[in-house]
Amino acid sequence: MIPGARLVLLGRQGAGKGTQCTRLSRHYVVPHISTGDILRAAVREGTEFGKKAQELMDAGELMPDDVIVGIIDERLDRDDTRARGFILDGFPRTTTQAEELLRITAPRGIDLAVNLEVPRGVVLKRLASRRVCADCGTNYSAEQPPKYGQTCDVCGGDVIHREDDTEHSINRRLDLYERETAPLIRWFEERGLLATVDGYGHPDEVTDRLVRTIDRLRDATR
Ligand SMILES: [Zn+2]
Repeated sequence: MIPGARLVLLGRQGAGKGTQCTRLSRHYVVPHISTGDILRAAVREGTEFGKKAQELMDAGELMPDDVIVGIIDERLDRDDTRARGFILDGFPRTTTQAEELLRITAPRGIDLAVNLEVPRGVVLKRLASRRVCADCGTNYSAEQPPKYGQTCDVCGGDVIHREDDTEHSINRRLDLYERETAPLIRWFEERGLLATVDGYGHPDEVTDRLVRTIDRLRDATR
C-alpha cells in the first residue's frame, strides 16, 4: 500500500497547483485541504472556530491568524488526516503561520513543502488567455476553448474573459504573491523542508515529477 504524505503545496496562480493537488490527493490517498474550502466547511458545520470566523465575516473584519490556524487544526485533527496525512493548499501564507503549522503537527511535522515552479512568463500567458464559465467556474483557454462557441461544456453557462485577467492586474497579483511567499520559501528551505519541482509541461509529466521528488526526499529523511 502507498504510504500517506504530509505536504504543503506552494505555487504561483496559474502554475497548475489545484490540478496537481487533486492528483496527489488521489495518489497518496490523503485529503486535499484548501484553506478557502475548509473555512467555508467550518462555518457551515458551526465548529468552534467556524463560529468565530462567521462572526468576523459578519463584522466585515479580517481573519486573524489564530482563527485560521484554529480551523486548520480542527481539520488536521480528524481521522483521515491523522491516519494518512494531508496536502495543504493556501496555508501557511506567512512564516508565523508556518511556525504554527509545525506546532500543531508536532511531533511528526510535515514531510515537505513543495514549490511548484512555473516561469512567470508562462503563467502570465496562461492566465491572460484564460476563459472561465460564469456559472460553474470551469476554466478554458485560447488553446482549449469550449466545444461550442462561448458555451460551457459542463453546464451550458456563458464562458467569459474575466475583467481582472488583464496583464496588468495579473502582474499585480503575481508581484503580491512573490512578496508574500519568498520569505516562506526561504523559511522552509532553511529547515531542510523545501523541494522545488519543475511544473512546466504536460500535467501527467508534472505529477510524475512531483511523486518521484516527494518519495525520494521523504524516504531520505525517514
Ligand atoms: Zn459551466
